[in-house]
Amino acid sequence: MILTLITHDLGVLEETTLQALTFARGLADDLGLELHAAVIGFEIENLADYGVSVTHLIGHDQLDDYSPSAWGVSLAQLVETLRPTAVVAIGSDRGNEVMAHVGAISGLPMVANVREIEASDESWSVLRTRWGGSLLEEASLRASIKLLTVAEHNTQASPGDQPSTMTTETFKPELDDNSLLTKIVDRVTVAEGVTLATAPVIVSGGRGVGSAEGFASLEELAGLLGGVVGCSRVVTNNGWRPHSDQVGQTGTVVAPDIYIACGISGAIQHWVGMMAAKTIIAINTDAEAPMVTKADYAVVGDLHEILPAVIDEIKRRQDG
Ligand SMILES: Cc1cc2nc3c(=O)[nH]c(=O)nc-3n(C[C@H](O)[C@H](O)[C@H](O)COP(=O)(O)OP(=O)(O)OC[C@H]3O[C@@H](n4cnc5c(N)ncnc54)[C@H](O)[C@@H]3O)c2cc1C
Repeated sequence: MILTLITHDLGVLEETTLQALTFARGLADDLGLELHAAVIGFEIENLADYGVSVTHLIGHDQLDDYSPSAWGVSLAQLVETLRPTAVVAIGSDRGNEVMAHVGAISGLPMVANVREIEASDESWSVLRTRWGGSLLEEASLRASIKLLTVAEHNTQASPGDQPSTMTTETFKPELDDNSLLTKIVDRVTVAEGVTLATAPVIVSGGRGVGSAEGFASLEELAGLLGGVVGCSRVVTNNGWRPHSDQVGQTGTVVAPDIYIACGISGAIQHWVGMMAAKTIIAINTDAEAPMVTKADYAVVGDLHEILPAVIDEIKRRQDG
């Protein structure tokens, strides 16, 4: 059986966790195995739509909120009980963190951010991303139980052809004070509504914007398109925007429908953070900039002239 960890926050599914479940379903189908899900602390609906035949509901007084160590201990105990062929989670911060705990507790190897698997009986050949997505590595995974996380935004989440007949089984792990090495004590909202990670449109600015004030036109365009503003690291280093707006290897990894890169050169550390965007539009004075040569569409010119023109045209069409 393939066991998938369903990552969530207080019962709200993590944005990308159904991508891992879809990936795991494909793997289970290929190997002729059942697809099971592990859900910690809260009940999650609609897993049958994704082909899950058994949900293991892991419950305990200490699992009322996320704790990487307590989740890791609990999942490791379930894995020891079920002994699945593989355990799959999404390669998010949370998925990677919990699976690393499971690996450390069980002594099993774990591979992170997998994109493809060629599964034979003993040893699986995996293709995975490393270094923030800038490197693809072929690795071989040989273990009695294979632990892996799936690269985010690499699989389109999709329900199965028809819902499965699903049963739910409860599992009570043995936890003590040492299991709760870290736990959430407070939550602070840093962004309301549409966020960088979920926005369908991102209007992103780099050094070419020139100043904090220069972002006014990016804000206006983002507002007109129902999107948010992002930026490069040069921008956060200069103090023009907060780090929470930064896209890239050391910022947020995004996958919007449209990414408009204004005055951003397209350095690899930025590119890996937005290359999963469905459509990339570059606005840049340099026709040879990597962002321009790799974009789906590019406008070569000064963003301070192009953005006001685009904004005027959108307003004109809206008024008309
Ligand atoms: C370990 C490490 C991690 C990093 N992590 C990140 C990260 O997470 N995110 C990130 O963004 N960077 C990251 N970087 C930095 C990265 O290497 C680049 O330095 C950075 O992305 C460059 O930002 P930029 O494109 O805004 O600036 P530049 O590279 O200076 O590019 C500015 C662009 O603006 C264009 N331009 C100038 N004026 C105009 C104008 N008026 N109109 C239109 N275009 C104009 C120029 O032609 C140029 O292409 C990291 C670096 C390291 C070493």
